[in-house]
Amino acid sequence: DIVLFNSFFNRIIDRFEMSKSDKVTFQRLFPEASYYVEIDTDKVTQVIDNIISNAIKYSPDGGNVRFGFTVQGEMLKVMISDDGMGIPKENVGRIFDRFYRVDRARARSMGGTGLGLAIAREMIEAHGGKIWAESEEGQGTTIFFTLPYDLDDFDEAGEWA
Ligand code: ATP
Ligand code: MG
Repeated sequence: DIVLFNSFFNRIIDRFEMSKSDKVTFQRLFPEASYYVEIDTDKVTQVIDNIISNAIKYSPDGGNVRFGFTVQGEMLKVMISDDGMGIPKENVGRIFDRFYRVDRARARSMGGTGLGLAIAREMIEAHGGKIWAESEEGQGTTIFFTLPYDLDDFDEAGEWA
């Protein structure tokens, strides 16, 4: 499907915002312009659902979850950021591995299988994008992913911008 990414992303965040507890606050920083993406909407929804669930799951009371996207060359760069417990440096590279969970004891109490981000990586790569994490232990985590986009309009030269 070809969808307007701005509203696609907003609708997913809205769904979480309606059902989330008051312990976390959401902030959105979106560009004004419209960006279209050609995606399997079910699959990318599943990716974003897992990232948001993780961000909420690992957030402290009073935490903020921030949502944004920017343009980087031919790609949209999407970010979902929390100020939760973070991930130790030596483990950040492994969270996209199947069944990998940072801390078994912590993971058990939090539920889940450790498959969410492995599936996310498969799906984003199948769309021609990349996914990665930046995290600081005790400070928070940001998950980034990219997707190729199209602008909705012709530029002045009459060509696709
Ligand atoms: P599932 O998604 O299958 O229910 P899960 O959430 O444990 O289980 P992933 O989503 O793949 O699995 O995440 C893998 C691990 O990465 C998590 O168990 C957790 O240790 C760590 N992790 C993921 N997101 C965050 C985050 N926002 N803050 C801190 N740790 C995180
Ligand atoms: Mg998960």
